[in-house]
Amino acid sequence: MTTSHPDRAFYDTVMVPNYNPAGVIPVRGEGSRVWDQQGREYLDLAGGIAVTALGHAHPRLVAALTGQAGRLWHVANVFATEPAMTLAGRLTELTFADRVFFANSGAEANEAALKLARRYAYDRGETARTEIIAFEQGFHGRTLFTVTAGGQPKYTEGFGPLPGDIRHVPYNDIAALEAAVSSRTCAVLVEPVQGEGGVTPADAEFLAAARRVCDEHGALLIFDEVQTGVGRTGDLYAYMGYGVEPDILTTAKALGNGIPISAMLTREAVAQVFQPGTHGSTYGGNPLACAVAAEVIDIVSQPDVLAGVRERGERLRAGLERINAAHGCFAEIRGRGLLVGAQLVPEWAGRARDILRAALDEGVLTLIAGPDVVRLAPSLIIPEAEVDEALVRLERAVARVAGA
Ligand code: PLP
Repeated sequence: MTTSHPDRAFYDTVMVPNYNPAGVIPVRGEGSRVWDQQGREYLDLAGGIAVTALGHAHPRLVAALTGQAGRLWHVANVFATEPAMTLAGRLTELTFADRVFFANSGAEANEAALKLARRYAYDRGETARTEIIAFEQGFHGRTLFTVTAGGQPKYTEGFGPLPGDIRHVPYNDIAALEAAVSSRTCAVLVEPVQGEGGVTPADAEFLAAARRVCDEHGALLIFDEVQTGVGRTGDLYAYMGYGVEPDILTTAKALGNGIPISAMLTREAVAQVFQPGTHGSTYGGNPLACAVAAEVIDIVSQPDVLAGVRERGERLRAGLERINAAHGCFAEIRGRGLLVGAQLVPEWAGRARDILRAALDEGVLTLIAGPDVVRLAPSLIIPEAEVDEALVRLERAVARVAGA
């Protein structure tokens, strides 16, 4: 039976069971607040997994979307469109990159990056240079190539045969990286902050070493900024804060604030490998998504917005420290800007999901990154009073879990 207000039980009858969503169904959002079918209000510290960087229903984004919706939705890449060119122009002005390829998800942007790296070596006659170095605990998406590049074996289990010549080394381990990269390496793929893997920032020396070994061995350096990009860390892209430039960068999530879009950015010489016919996507560069993303980039790239991310990040971390002082639950509070992870102490091991559930009951949306890390990725412009209010609710949730 279908109704205009299906309930959560209906979900279990019609959806492939690869997700296990919460019991409540959000129906409306405004800024950093969300309401469910029963009209109950929640403060959003999850941001749809680091996506809604400007909150829900931001007036400028609604105007960009509805304005474009009344003009042109889709013509495919047999035509150039104004929104795609405008967005590509902004991204190349604001970053290291000379060229942009658009896709629809983080995984697709990474898929394009990995294919580009392989093809770059091939086109230069280096047909043996096929190895990709990635990192343990890394996450790059769920296509077969990207899930294999990810560093958590549980996500590839049962999906073989997997794409070959991908090797994983420990994250933040310079010696292991130096030992792994060789003249057979076509690319090193790394997240500047591992998001899904536990909110683990790279050491600055580690990213600098990655740049150096790639240069020494003629490999391309790919930064997966799907989660860290578009202001999340307090810089427009995290590489800017680290002062290390990649050859290829992937960006998605916050780029469309919830409208599916991703991009792969690269330098001129590398971009030239993707000549007509080599790679593509029906929806990539879709005018609706590009119109929204251009507005997102205009807003987030403002220096006061980026400074606000750093201030709010401090405020959030200070609040988590206070919760920790009262309950002794966190071993470490880490991250950059508004990508924050709180690692549970061993006595609380495996209870991140309990905290997430209790937080939902208390009216605050949170994330986890594995069983032992509570992860927060709110809107970059969440009002400070709402940060404080969300922390009060979160403390109540932690107290409940402590008492359980
Ligand atoms: N790369 C990183 C660093 C991510 O965090 C994610 C998603 O969490 C992805 C890639 C995959 O993005 P998508 O789910 O849009 O394919």
